[in-house]
Amino acid sequence: MTDFTSLGLAEPLLRALAAQDYVNPTPIQQQAIPHVMAGRDLIGIAQTGTGKTAAFALPILHRLATDRRDTPKRSCRTLVLSPTRELASQIAESFRVYGKFLKLSTRVVFGGVSMNNQIRDLVGGVDVLVATPGRLLDLIRNRAFRLDDIEVFVLDEADQMLDMGFIHDIKRLVKLLPEVRQTLFFSATMAKEIGNLADTLLDDPAKVAVTPVATTAERIAQHVIFVEGQRKQALLHKLLENPAIERALVFSRTKHGANKIAGRLADAGHPAAAIHGNKSQAQREKALADFKAGRSRLLIATDIAARGIDVDGVTHVINFDLPNVPESYVHRIGRTARAGAEGIAISFCAGDERAYLRDIERTTRTPVPVMPNPLGEGEGIVTSDRDDRPARPQQHRRPGGGGGRGFGSRDGQGQRRDDRGGRPEQGRSEQRGPRQDTRGESRNGGGGERNARPSGGAPRSDRPFSNGGARRPDQRRDGRPGR
Ligand code: AMP
Repeated sequence: MTDFTSLGLAEPLLRALAAQDYVNPTPIQQQAIPHVMAGRDLIGIAQTGTGKTAAFALPILHRLATDRRDTPKRSCRTLVLSPTRELASQIAESFRVYGKFLKLSTRVVFGGVSMNNQIRDLVGGVDVLVATPGRLLDLIRNRAFRLDDIEVFVLDEADQMLDMGFIHDIKRLVKLLPEVRQTLFFSATMAKEIGNLADTLLDDPAKVAVTPVATTAERIAQHVIFVEGQRKQALLHKLLENPAIERALVFSRTKHGANKIAGRLADAGHPAAAIHGNKSQAQREKALADFKAGRSRLLIATDIAARGIDVDGVTHVINFDLPNVPESYVHRIGRTARAGAEGIAISFCAGDERAYLRDIERTTRTPVPVMPNPLGEGEGIVTSDRDDRPARPQQHRRPGGGGGRGFGSRDGQGQRRDDRGGRPEQGRSEQRGPRQDTRGESRNGGGGERNARPSGGAPRSDRPFSNGGARRPDQRRDGRPGR
């Protein structure tokens, strides 16, 4: 197997990787690093969790270190655009961790905080700037930053950028970049409009991809519980009685819903923070820091807020609401079982969400096993269509065979349920566009399958409540950078 040494990375980088206990490059790193080191443009189809940040950060740091130059005033040598503040911070942190023996400068800028400090920090120029598009444009308009000296431009999470409506900002920024540059373009999906954007940015790019987008993460045991909408909160409280849920990310479809869930949890003695776009930067950072440090067991999030968040030791992802875009489901459950750990995803499904569930199963090509409702209630659990569902693909089976036991099985032979009829109207139109059923190609705004991850053969848990080996915060067996 390739190791980092054979990729030809500079010695201080190898030392930093060793300090992180990274032994082997992940598949995206193996594929991408040689192209980037050779100076080529690149399209990388990879989700968060695959090690894609290091796939671009390492060769960029290598280039900056082996071709040292003064940092251009009010500019940078490398620009990384990221859709969210959280992701931007994590990327900058990765550059710092991998580059810790290199004496290169890294800064991150995003909106929601004062611009003055950012302006001051950038006066002398930096080696690497990680930015969200809006704030970067503001800095440029204020003549606090220029893009004409940039050597390497990275567009990360391009699909998410488009989903979030950043396309015009990106086009404006790209016009200001020098013609001669290296461009690295990452996206979880390659829908047509993303491909079109890539065409305008890249020059004869190398293409690398990991893990088909329509497969769910292998080490995640998935379950669905049928429940009436107004009983979801009670169901959540019931589940939380189980201490095996050590650290859970709970997803709500709306910001208002996230607040309501967090408030009711707090009232019931389960302190939880909500993280979403209406929270101030300070609130978001605090919620995330408390969750990461293990001070809070629960984080309630919306899809956008959770995008790219990388927290070790999330034992459970609970979909309080099912997402109306199937890829969001894959992305959500990918927040557990990060980088080699195992995880459990439990989805609550009310009567009006059944069409969402069916879409998810169609997209992932995997039935989600039903778990009996621990409140002893059910929502339409009847026997009919289970037997004619396609068998769960072999690669999703537990190594060594064996189906589920106890609550819900991994091989889809658990409780049966009826055909889920009637597609709910509410909330679908703004996110759904023309689509095909496979792989989400030509999806209009449905990006986000962040399911892929470095593969490995560790056994996973079949039990919804067993931790099954998920890393606890204090068990850093993969030595990931301290994010
Ligand atoms: P990313 O997809 O960039 O968000 O990375 C997912 C996680 O994998 C991060 O926590 C990284 O620190 C970790 N990681 C990246 N590359 C490796 C590697 N080669 N070995 C072990 N962990 C890694």
